[in-house]
Amino acid sequence: MPVPRDRLVRILLVEDELKVASFIRSALEEHSYAVDVSHDGEEGCYLAESTDYDLIILDIMLPKMDGFQLLRRLRARKPGLPVLVLTARGTVEDRVRGLDLGADDYLVKPFALAELTARVRALMRRGVREGSTELRVDDLVLDSARRRVTRAGKPIELSNKEYSLLEYLMRNANHAVTRGMIAEHVWDSSFDSFTNVIDVYINHLRNKVDRNFGRRLIHSVRGVGYRISATESEHDQVS
Ligand code: CA
Repeated sequence: MPVPRDRLVRILLVEDELKVASFIRSALEEHSYAVDVSHDGEEGCYLAESTDYDLIILDIMLPKMDGFQLLRRLRARKPGLPVLVLTARGTVEDRVRGLDLGADDYLVKPFALAELTARVRALMRRGVREGSTELRVDDLVLDSARRRVTRAGKPIELSNKEYSLLEYLMRNANHAVTRGMIAEHVWDSSFDSFTNVIDVYINHLRNKVDRNFGRRLIHSVRGVGYRISATESEHDQVS
């Protein structure tokens, strides 16, 4: 279902550095987005909960309430709202923490404004596709209405768990998901002992989805987890 042209995309930017906030706001407004800016976590949280935004761009180091806390509260109340985390912290632990808390994407400062607007566009496209029943990564297609998976037109038989795992990876296509996220969404559990089970199921999936098809789609992301994508990334683990 395409977004009507006159439907304004409304973005909340939570960023305490005034200069950075104003740069980002102008860049987004140039791309015809409507932007509200908040300079502290508490106000940002209030606005995010009380206003109907299409996307939140969220800094982590914030006065009054940090971005992680805000994200945790927001996820409990608005699980489907896309959140792009913007932060100076680029360590693997922080990226994992942000993703575990439900961030949809992650951009480390300093970044190019062109990259930010490209990520915003990508997140908005994902939102628009939500009504469709077909997920697609390269020549791999998952039809969630018929619970059918094909690659290069050939049907692939999957167990229920394998199917759920693949669907979760494909819903997050091109983004790394942590084992914690997989455990929570596919196994409805959040503890670490699932790590091994997840790796076993990933192997099953690789055998069925990737093995006989030349190009690999399921990638291991160093220090994070897994990602399904038609393209390799610098963070991929060579295995
Ligand atoms: Ca900050």
